[in-house]
Amino acid sequence: MSGLLELQAADTMADQLRHRREHLAERDAVQAAKNELLRWNESRITVRQRVEELTAEIDDTEQASAKLDRQREKLQAQLKTVIAPREAEALQREIATLNAERSALDDAELTAMEELTRQEAELNALLAREEPLTAEYLAAEAALANAESDIDGELERIADRLDGLRSAVPKPVLKQYDRLRKNFLIAAATMSGSRCDGCHLDLSAAEVDTIRETAAKKDGIADCPQCGRLLVV
Ligand SMILES: [Zn+2]
Repeated sequence: MSGLLELQAADTMADQLRHRREHLAERDAVQAAKNELLRWNESRITVRQRVEELTAEIDDTEQASAKLDRQREKLQAQLKTVIAPREAEALQREIATLNAERSALDDAELTAMEELTRQEAELNALLAREEPLTAEYLAAEAALANAESDIDGELERIADRLDGLRSAVPKPVLKQYDRLRKNFLIAAATMSGSRCDGCHLDLSAAEVDTIRETAAKKDGIADCPQCGRLLVV
């Protein structure tokens, strides 16, 4: 009953192709490219946020500085009109405090502007990577689709052959084969000497005799007493 073994061989080939399809290196490459793109996007969002924060911070500092300048001008105008030395001293102290605050604001703005320059440069560098990273991802996807479609083509050819192979196997044997295939990838095996090629267990001389007797009556097919697979003798 070599038809049964041919059917098993075709099913095994299809099993292997499906396994290969699941574990394509191209699939890992797509995942890696996707992860890279996601990491890139996270960095882009973080850096853009920092740029916005710094821009707002610089804006606030400039407004606070302008407010201080207006206060200082007001005090300086007052200083010109006061005559009492004590009042003049008080005004000068206030102006000195404002000057110190203004200077601290200038320092803070300078620090923020330096960081803004760095963050903007980083953002530009990140934006320049979008195109190559996207291209890499799309290329990986295309390569995976190609590899999958090659395997799908082979699987289709096997599926066409399977119809013919199945119709050549007697119905009851086919039924048993299909039932066994739910538990084993290999449902039909040969016997090598006194060993079943499905479970690879040695069979006793009495078991081998029974198998040969059964096979002689049933188209060369018996069951393995150890694993229950169909044995083609
Ligand atoms: Zn067996």
